Amino acid sequence: MTIYDCVIVGSGPAGLAAAFGILESRPQARVLLLERARVSSGGLRNDCKMNFTWPIGFPSEYWTREIAAGYLFRTEEFLKPAIMGQTNLSTYQRRAERIGVELLMVRQSHLGTDGGLRLIKDLVTRLESSGVEVSLEEELVSIDRATKTAVTGKRSVGYDQLVVAPGRHGFDFLRQFMRANEIEYTDNSIDVGVRVETKIENYPIVRDYYDPKFLFPERTRTFCTNSGAAHVVQEQYTAANGQPYYSVNGHAWSNERESNGLVNFAVLRSVEFTRPLASGQDYAEFLAQLAMLTGGGHPIMQRIGDFRLGKRTTKEGLNEDLYDFAPSLASCTPGDISLAMPAKFLRSIWKALKQLDTIVPGLLHPATILYYPEIKLYANKPAFRDQYFQAAEDIYLIGDGAGTSRGITGAWASGLRAADGIRRKKGW
Ligand SMILES: Cc1cc2nc3c(=O)[nH]c(=O)nc-3n(C[C@H](O)[C@H](O)[C@H](O)COP(=O)(O)OP(=O)(O)OC[C@H]3O[C@@H](n4cnc5c(N)ncnc54)[C@H](O)[C@@H]3O)c2cc1C
Repeated sequence: MTIYDCVIVGSGPAGLAAAFGILESRPQARVLLLERARVSSGGLRNDCKMNFTWPIGFPSEYWTREIAAGYLFRTEEFLKPAIMGQTNLSTYQRRAERIGVELLMVRQSHLGTDGGLRLIKDLVTRLESSGVEVSLEEELVSIDRATKTAVTGKRSVGYDQLVVAPGRHGFDFLRQFMRANEIEYTDNSIDVGVRVETKIENYPIVRDYYDPKFLFPERTRTFCTNSGAAHVVQEQYTAANGQPYYSVNGHAWSNERESNGLVNFAVLRSVEFTRPLASGQDYAEFLAQLAMLTGGGHPIMQRIGDFRLGKRTTKEGLNEDLYDFAPSLASCTPGDISLAMPAKFLRSIWKALKQLDTIVPGLLHPATILYYPEIKLYANKPAFRDQYFQAAEDIYLIGDGAGTSRGITGAWASGLRAADGIRRKKGW
């Protein structure tokens, strides 16, 4: 059996950064990077917009401004992003302030889905040429802590240090992993919302600021804006009961592709549960399955014009002349999101959308589409033993799946931080 100095699980930004971080302090380290897909499957691959300003993507329970600043600096030094300009925002800012909304100014870069794929290939090639063994389509199944053995779908390998970074899609895997290895965790918060899609002319702020971050009252915010050659997509997950469900998301190609004139972004509300409801994941799965039930097995979409009138959107209604663009995710079921979304989320989100329409007039054009559900699962909170995300002896849990990040740069920073912990512990 081969024994590695470090086995890293997941080739998203968290796993990649952990590998680079380890090599930086110990170039001769024997590192295995396992990836269950054919290519890294997270945000590096989808849209790949990166935010380089705290607190975007950095959960406050783990990242102070000072700690994040050092890691953001290192992340930027390494990835060398082309930061985009931001212009003509003072009017939007003034309007926002007047109604109690904050427009956060965030340094951003945007590669697009095609640019992200190029970046992934480049990073993986660099790791391989530095001696890292990158094994695609190989999944971690379980570990034996006593013998420090990792069992994959193909073989057993030994590890000295184990870094697990399975992302949001690996949320359920990580839960089972923590249970099996007696790592305590909580899972009591959740983000639920809609994805909004409209013509760029109805939300022209994106010409001046690619991914404008608005913070509304009631823990509601805009998130992950995509424009140009932009599409709403659906991601499939499997609930604990084996039922598949979807969450919508969005991405855009780089500006080398022709624009379809559309923009999409999420409006999400965060909620933290207290007893007796303990699991954000269970709740999320229940909500998503309710959406699947009302949507006949698909997510739901509804035009703002219909939503305001309290009536469902119909297939025929999608083509009336007021409704002047076709949905980019045509497989969604035209319907009534208020049948599926709890009032606590719906009220805050509708309030936020009306405020946003005051700041950027035109957003609530009758043709604008709301897609539901968009659910973010980054609520696993392992009980860490140190500030480097060590959750059990020689086991580090990082990235979105472990709740240490909520975006590419935060995930990258978590990888560097875990590598720092390993370096200090091992004296590398
Ligand atoms: C459609 C979409 C668009 C997004 N756009 C953006 C964006 O533009 N900007 C942004 O900042 N964030 C974006 N995000 C969020 C972003 O994906 C995450 O914040 C980030 O990728 C988290 O990094 P990570 O390394 O924790 O996990 P991931 O990037 O999800 O990587 C985890 C990897 O682990 C692998 N894996 C899981 N379980 C196992 C296992 N058992 N064995 C082996 N491998 C395993 C997965 O296949 C995956 O490749 C987007 C997400 C999606 C889904």
